[in-house]
Amino acid sequence: MPDRFRPFRFSRAGLRGLNASTTLSLNEQVHQMWEAGREVYHLGFGESRFPVHPKIADALRANVHQRSYLPAHGIQKLRETIAQFYQRKFQMAISPSQVVIGPGSKSLLYALLLSLGEEIILPQPSWVSYAPQAHLLGKPVLWVPMRPEHDYHLEVDVLRQKMEEDKEEWGNPEVLILNSPHNPTGTMLPHHKVQALADFAREQELMVLSDEIYALITYGQTSHVSIAQYYPEGTVVLGGLSKHLSLGGWRFGLAILPLGRSGEALQRAIRTIAGSIWSCVTAPVQYAAIVAYSNDPDVDQFVDLCTRMHSIRTRYLYAGLVEAGIPCVEPKGAFYVFPSFKKWQKALAERDVYTCHDLAAYLLEKYELATLPGAGFGSSPEDLCLRLSSSYLDAGTDEKSAALVEAFQENPDPEHFIQAYHPRLRVATSRFADFVADLERDGRRPTFEGVDHKFLTLRQAQNIMYKSPGGASSRGVESAETLPYLSDTATEDSEETHHNTFE
Ligand code: PLP
Repeated sequence: MPDRFRPFRFSRAGLRGLNASTTLSLNEQVHQMWEAGREVYHLGFGESRFPVHPKIADALRANVHQRSYLPAHGIQKLRETIAQFYQRKFQMAISPSQVVIGPGSKSLLYALLLSLGEEIILPQPSWVSYAPQAHLLGKPVLWVPMRPEHDYHLEVDVLRQKMEEDKEEWGNPEVLILNSPHNPTGTMLPHHKVQALADFAREQELMVLSDEIYALITYGQTSHVSIAQYYPEGTVVLGGLSKHLSLGGWRFGLAILPLGRSGEALQRAIRTIAGSIWSCVTAPVQYAAIVAYSNDPDVDQFVDLCTRMHSIRTRYLYAGLVEAGIPCVEPKGAFYVFPSFKKWQKALAERDVYTCHDLAAYLLEKYELATLPGAGFGSSPEDLCLRLSSSYLDAGTDEKSAALVEAFQENPDPEHFIQAYHPRLRVATSRFADFVADLERDGRRPTFEGVDHKFLTLRQAQNIMYKSPGGASSRGVESAETLPYLSDTATEDSEETHHNTFE
């Protein structure tokens, strides 16, 4: 134990090898830059920022008097409502007795990992919290690589091979975490691959924890299907309100447990853990969640609207990267992209950029682009991957995100939406192109300091997205100075109080 910790002792689990510094130090740096009046385009936050739907806000207000502890697994009416919601939205026949709620799906995931077997299979890359949770629990992780050439899908043969290689040392792992739509890549598993994974999981007797928190944010190319449809006896589905209703801070998550003995055992385990740690989900939030899951047409429409906005914003960013020649797998849901800069390894090394951490630091310093290094998600630092989120730019304050919703309701034309309301997203996207141009040109100064950004129009973006031949419009090359949103950037985002990038 180093001297500075004396006279206190810390648990080994708390200190051993856990490293939150990548994202935290990025965030600290961003805040310092904002405070110093510098511009930063924050692509590091993965928080959906649209307003609280008025019906849900009303329900929360109306239930503020609910102050008693509630059942650890949730009030009955809510569990019934959630069961009906999943039936209607995803054709999943579940009974209310399978539903458990918790303060965010993250807490439920931790309780599940605590309750289940030892070694945990994690696709690589994966959301930042899975591996630290395994680590805190002292459970080994078996990483199974997912490759861009497979659209970052977890492939059964790769999984099988990894498990076989691992077997001698560890025995058979018992838990597999799946996540589709996927953070950090935005990709989605097509039905036949979900089915193949279900067959494999059944054969190997794996308990699948299927993180479906982005299930309602899909762009329409691939429809979401839960592995629980094919493997109900061995799947726990995780969901919540954080993403499609932008309610991350309300801390509401749910798990749908399997029927039968394993489900009952998990139910008991989670109730014990909840009873010993968080007792129950905040009472007014439980009542408000009934409205959120009630299949109310207004709420449904709002979720659809937010999803379309996420889709347009994320596709625009993706298309801009592709247009600049940056390898990036097409996102199909959520609000993330995961480009790789490996093809410029040599030019980057000349700038002392060897890892994704160096790359994120370089982009922040030289291009004012805040991004998350892919290594935080388990990818190799030398792969030079970054996770970019479209969720924050131009929606950095409550006023701006409300204005976006209003504007999109008035005119849902994607082109107009991007051109008129996304000056920061457009600048950020164009800076990646400037960066790449600089890497290829070598030795010359970055060009973004001028006003000659080449902005993509959404139509150009869509042509890239759908690979339709020709017809790209070149409209939309505007000077940064003429864009109204750019003048107030020193204050944008800087008032935000949250520092948690483990979204
Ligand atoms: N799962 C994934 C893949 C996420 O990206 C996030 C948040 O970013 C969560 C779970 C956390 O959700 P919750 O707010 O329900 O804890």
